[in-house]
Amino acid sequence: MAIIIDGNATAKALKNEVKAEVELLMTKGAKRPPHLAAILVGEDGASKAYVGSKVKDCELVGYKSTLIKFEDSVSESELLKAIQELNEDEGIDGFIVQLPLPKHIDQENIIQSIHPDKDVDGFHPMNFGKMALEMDAFHPATPAGIMELLERYSINTVGKMAVVIGRSRIVGRPMSILLGSKGNPGDATVILAHSKTKELEKYTRQADIIITALGNPGFLKADMISEGAVIIDVGITRVDDTSKKGYHLAGDVDFPSCAPIASYITPVPGGVGPMTRAMLLKNTLKAYKNNY
Ligand code: NAD
Repeated sequence: MAIIIDGNATAKALKNEVKAEVELLMTKGAKRPPHLAAILVGEDGASKAYVGSKVKDCELVGYKSTLIKFEDSVSESELLKAIQELNEDEGIDGFIVQLPLPKHIDQENIIQSIHPDKDVDGFHPMNFGKMALEMDAFHPATPAGIMELLERYSINTVGKMAVVIGRSRIVGRPMSILLGSKGNPGDATVILAHSKTKELEKYTRQADIIITALGNPGFLKADMISEGAVIIDVGITRVDDTSKKGYHLAGDVDFPSCAPIASYITPVPGGVGPMTRAMLLKNTLKAYKNNY
């Protein structure tokens, strides 16, 4: 039976470390704590919940946070103006624009208007490029959180074969870059699989590490993995059920069939998700130290 990687406990430990560091900085005479701002557009329930929890996390570790809300109907130019103000505000160390944005707004334009030094989501092409070149940069929170889990569970990735399923700009693709970069975690031989990949199981059956980020509940089954594989499940899909809530969250991995074969496995919920939130705090602390 696999060791279940506890993302909740790891994220809590990480947040406590960040909190202790902020307290130390303040007792040493820092004039202000780190300050994260978030832009939220519209009334989407999931986006509101995500931003709300990010603000709560800030309070927990002693950061200042600012939430800037816009109606769904906000124009791109209004949004760009708000971003410009945040770029220029010396009291803000970093900020995020909660995605997705309404269709009439060009997401790429918005991401590119964020100053790379304040881009704590690590989505700006400058940060992405620097990450790919193994230069100092903000790394996107989800893959960075997975690297942190691998490190804290002392999972050796050097020379291992890793298959990343899904090539989104926020999870799969950066994950493949980080796992293939120098270091441990890192130095893996990486296959980046996607919807056009043929005979995926040919690769997953050879893999020492499998990272699923496709958003297809229960996609990875026991017959697709080998004994002792490390399985990291990024997927979070709402699946309707007859519970009081009316749904539950499902990962991309068929946990009951894979857990007895794997060496390590992340659950959903309670695996990668909490780490994503924690890494945003870590990136904000990095921005603060650069800025302050
Ligand atoms: P996305 O929808 O942008 O991309 C999905 C990717 O999966 C695409 O690259 C596509 O080519 C690939 N894909 C789809 N079907 C496939 C198949 N049959 N075989 C191989 N590849 C296939 O996804 P995303 O934004 O990266 O999110 C993926 C999942 O991760 C979603 O469930 C999302 O909710 C979740 N997610 C979780 C966190 C977290 O913190 N845990 C963060 C971000 C996203």
